[in-house]
Amino acid sequence: HKRKRYHEVNDTGVTFEDIGGLEKPKQELKEAIDFLKFDERARRYGIRPLKGILLTGPPGTGKTLMAKAAANYAEAAFVAASGSEFVEMYVGVGASRIRDLFKEVKQLALEKGLSRGVIFIDEIDAIGGKRDGRQQKEYDQTLNQLLTEMDGINTTEHPRLLIIAATNRVDMLDPALLRPGRFDRLIRVDLPDKRARKHILELHFRHKPLAGDVNLDEVAKDTYGLSGAQLESVANEAAIYAFRAEEKTINRKHIALAIEKVMLGEQTDKESTG
Ligand code: ATP
Repeated sequence: HKRKRYHEVNDTGVTFEDIGGLEKPKQELKEAIDFLKFDERARRYGIRPLKGILLTGPPGTGKTLMAKAAANYAEAAFVAASGSEFVEMYVGVGASRIRDLFKEVKQLALEKGLSRGVIFIDEIDAIGGKRDGRQQKEYDQTLNQLLTEMDGINTTEHPRLLIIAATNRVDMLDPALLRPGRFDRLIRVDLPDKRARKHILELHFRHKPLAGDVNLDEVAKDTYGLSGAQLESVANEAAIYAFRAEEKTINRKHIALAIEKVMLGEQTDKESTG
């Protein structure tokens, strides 16, 4: 029964430079982390200590990457979990998992000699969203535990904790989560525009052998509506087509096939979920 079974723990190694586009949200996140890095100075201004940041936006847009980069920038221990892991049939299990998560990040920070810790909770709506009656009690306990832990964060003691959560349905969240002193800072992480898509493509083709006939500007134009995660798939699928064809470089044809594949996959996903 090791906690590590359901909590991903790592040295993130991700920096803001590894994230394509999202210039404004990156800036906002860095500024928020600066309140943490320079918290004594922030206190002198009477700024309310920051405990929670909520990243909102569609799937695959880089919210997890942003949380990892933030932890790295904050020089913090990093622990991640998904809200869906806390939803259990047995009352009390979710709440005790929340407690474990907070213990775990403190422990990790101590072990690593770091004075800050970041907890990332993806799909926070699974904890702080609306549920049906049967699961209501369990859900209330889990949410209450999270609120209790957040309210109990001591902002003058080490390790100094910050909770970053992500959701693509902020409208579904319990307002208790959004109150001052909890997730009171919202950062929007949107689908990439053409320029951002080019940037993301450049990042994901960085270590791949691209043919001279490939113009990433055009690829960015042809990938309208795709998320960062889907652009990563385009780069990977294109490389697979080149590999299968035993060609030395990834050319326009491979990329066109990859775009088609990713876009078709997206369509069948939508059809199958209605
Ligand atoms: P979800 O809401 O589905 O959990 P997410 O918003 O957390 O998704 P990530 O897990 O951060 O998305 O992204 C998945 C992968 O997609 C990343 O590991 C990365 O390879 C790629 N990716 C997504 N967005 C970007 C981006 N802005 N720049 C570079 N790569 C990206």
